[in-house]
Amino acid sequence: MREDGTTAGGARDDDPLLRVENLRTTFATETGTVRAVDGVSFDVERGETVGLVGESGAGKSVTARSLVGLVEDPGRVVGGSVRLDGAELTDNTESEWRDVRGGRIAMVFQDPLSRLNPVYTVGNQIEEALRIHRGLRGAAAREKAVELLEDVGIPDAARRAEAYPHEFSGGMCQRAVIAIALACDPDLLVCDEPTTALDVTTQAQILDLLDDLRAERDLAVLFITHDMGVVAEVCDRVNVMYAGEIVERAGVVDLFERPKHPYTQGLLDAVPARTARGERLAAIEGEVPTPTEPATACRFAPRCPRAFDACHSVHPTGVAVSADADDHTAACLHYPADATRDEAVERHRERDTRTGAEGDTE
Ligand code: SF4
Repeated sequence: MREDGTTAGGARDDDPLLRVENLRTTFATETGTVRAVDGVSFDVERGETVGLVGESGAGKSVTARSLVGLVEDPGRVVGGSVRLDGAELTDNTESEWRDVRGGRIAMVFQDPLSRLNPVYTVGNQIEEALRIHRGLRGAAAREKAVELLEDVGIPDAARRAEAYPHEFSGGMCQRAVIAIALACDPDLLVCDEPTTALDVTTQAQILDLLDDLRAERDLAVLFITHDMGVVAEVCDRVNVMYAGEIVERAGVVDLFERPKHPYTQGLLDAVPARTARGERLAAIEGEVPTPTEPATACRFAPRCPRAFDACHSVHPTGVAVSADADDHTAACLHYPADATRDEAVERHRERDTRTGAEGDTE
């Protein structure tokens, strides 16, 4: 920490570990430019788990990949800012990205078996990560690899380090992938649907493990999922994504007890555990659109049960849902709830004109 209270990256003591502002990632396709991530902003603090939730196609995974410089061709981050401890990442060179990935930020993906190399033992693969990121070799690397396997709950870790991935169950493979992620002692763990391929019991164990690791290591975790049940289990704060935008943001209890955006309400109505026995499970009709133009209206309007005329001509931006709820925002023309409808619509119209496509370098 410098004398003026900033870190080497320029972050102040009270800055979040990760700050994403107005992030825009597009894909150039034959049929047009897909705006997969369209003005996304959120923070992640040390020691907390922040959720990014939404249906498939909402832009969650592209957001995660944009944070670590892994957007695949023809995708490109075209605007906005991603700061880790105050240091801007979006203008990183490939070698700077390599230092960040596996150094400060580690990722855990959905399919653990595909992340492990079948021809090397699990221990070898953790040792390789330790060699690259922490300079450990030989007995020191082996000892640390076994310790990491113990940390992620692999029994008889010294013997298991000699095993190949195909000798592990799905849950054990995911634990091994998490051990590799931890080998670089990251500040931020980005988990992209890490339990989707696992059975319910193993899923619960992995969620418990991630929560224990977060608490023990003061890790920041960005948790990407389509599963509201998982969100309730692990997240402190939640960002709901729809068609490339964040449409609602709140603390997890607030979101589940007082969801405001019609899309969030629809997602929660579709959770089996929240539906009374014998009652028909609700579903949101239609599909997430693929945005190819800047938003000039609410992208959820064609599916929204509460849509009214202005929803088709005014683009809602995230506003506090009421005057006393700064940390709960919704991008919906019905909010703030304590304004008249006309006032609320005008507020969104003005905010959208101000923020517009700021930072877009297309
Ligand atoms: S702005 Fe309109 S269409 Fe969009 S979520 Fe709100 S009510 Fe529905």
